[in-house]
Amino acid sequence: MIYTKKQEIISKKIDPNSNKGDWNNWKWQLKHSIKTIEQFEYLSGIKLSDSIKASMKKTFDHFPLSITPYYLSVIDFNNYEFDPVFKQSFGTPSELQVLKSDHQDPLSEDSDSPVKGITHRYPDRVMFHISNICSMYCRHCTRKRKVGDVDCIPSKVDLLKGIQYITETKQVRDVLLSGGDPLMLPDDMLEWVLQELTKIPHVEIIRIGTRMPVVLPYRITDDLVNMLRKYNPVWVNTHFNHPKEITTSSCLALKRLADGGLPLGNQSVLLADVNDCPRIMKSLLHKLVQNRVRPYYLYQCDLSEGLSHFRTPVGKGIEIMESLIGHTSGFARPTYVIDAPGGGGKVPVMPNYIISWSTNKVVLRNYEGVITTYKEPDSYEARLCDRNCEDCNLELKFDADEEIAESGINELLSDASDRIALIPENNPRLKRRKNDV
Ligand SMILES: *Cc1c(COP(=O)(O)O)cnc(C)c1O
Repeated sequence: MIYTKKQEIISKKIDPNSNKGDWNNWKWQLKHSIKTIEQFEYLSGIKLSDSIKASMKKTFDHFPLSITPYYLSVIDFNNYEFDPVFKQSFGTPSELQVLKSDHQDPLSEDSDSPVKGITHRYPDRVMFHISNICSMYCRHCTRKRKVGDVDCIPSKVDLLKGIQYITETKQVRDVLLSGGDPLMLPDDMLEWVLQELTKIPHVEIIRIGTRMPVVLPYRITDDLVNMLRKYNPVWVNTHFNHPKEITTSSCLALKRLADGGLPLGNQSVLLADVNDCPRIMKSLLHKLVQNRVRPYYLYQCDLSEGLSHFRTPVGKGIEIMESLIGHTSGFARPTYVIDAPGGGGKVPVMPNYIISWSTNKVVLRNYEGVITTYKEPDSYEARLCDRNCEDCNLELKFDADEEIAESGINELLSDASDRIALIPENNPRLKRRKNDV
């Protein structure tokens, strides 16, 4: 258990009778979350100007403030204005700016929802929102519309509807528990959800998306890990954005999870003035892999309302990827994605490596700028695939019943489909055609 001098000072200010054990207790932390500017001033010893306070208050009326004492203790009080944790926790009036291109629900999560709490976007996996609360409110939250909205707290009845949907939808092999933060549920409630999901024969893996290792590492108790590991394979994805967030306490939380056999991933959001720097990003990624966390995604900041001041051009993300690919371990680099507005899902983006192509040669460039050629085979016997494994000499045979119909660009490439084009709805040219006939 860690209890630094700074943490002790904060802890004693919160409650003079508190001790190391209280500080390391996640429920104590939640009970004493900082929700007002006055509390922040008192605990940090920082005196904010009246005008800053007034503008912050206006922001918090709209998007509330909440930060755990632990995460507060990570802020450098001597240099708080530039602190990446401060910037992720304390709002600025820029949050109240809504651009024409902003949306309440940019990813159409509420419309791509067959039942409350489930977003079913991709063929074989669903996102299951099992909690709408978080241990803190990230200023860059993509689901800001739901923060603090009591109508969004799922009841057991709601959760049962989600579980029923997954049971009835045979193609779902991967369930991603999200929220809010799923680890805000008490262990027994979370265990109940895991038990129900594990009973479903077609559910192969469960994932948990949580920011607890970052903002409240004490939530990762031995009891929690021992419970989670019973439902293996459970993958845990967390959300570190800056190397500063990787503290001794968060390392201990990650160690517990990794030692418990839970594979760990990390999703970062590219944030202006927080981590939009190739060197900061590389330092974060290196620290993650040292702690057995595999960087998974780097997100372009979504078009949610109130996030405009956090957004970078896409070019910043590509520049960062350019600084990583080839320059550091392959497993230390995330996939940079833009979550397509309107519900199109995650689209990977990266620098171009194919420079040109002929019928038997590809011209490539590498990370050093070396231009090279790859000679393709002169003879390659294309195997036409009609999706009938009986006539095929490859080893594994698939059962036609198990198959999910091909779709998307994948279907255009398929020999088994007659589809030759994907055409936008209301295409004016095709409308004219109909009138012609
Ligand atoms: C991100 C996401 C997933 C998971 O996508 P992966 O690429 O498999 O990690 C599933 N459903 C929704 C709605 C998502 O946004």
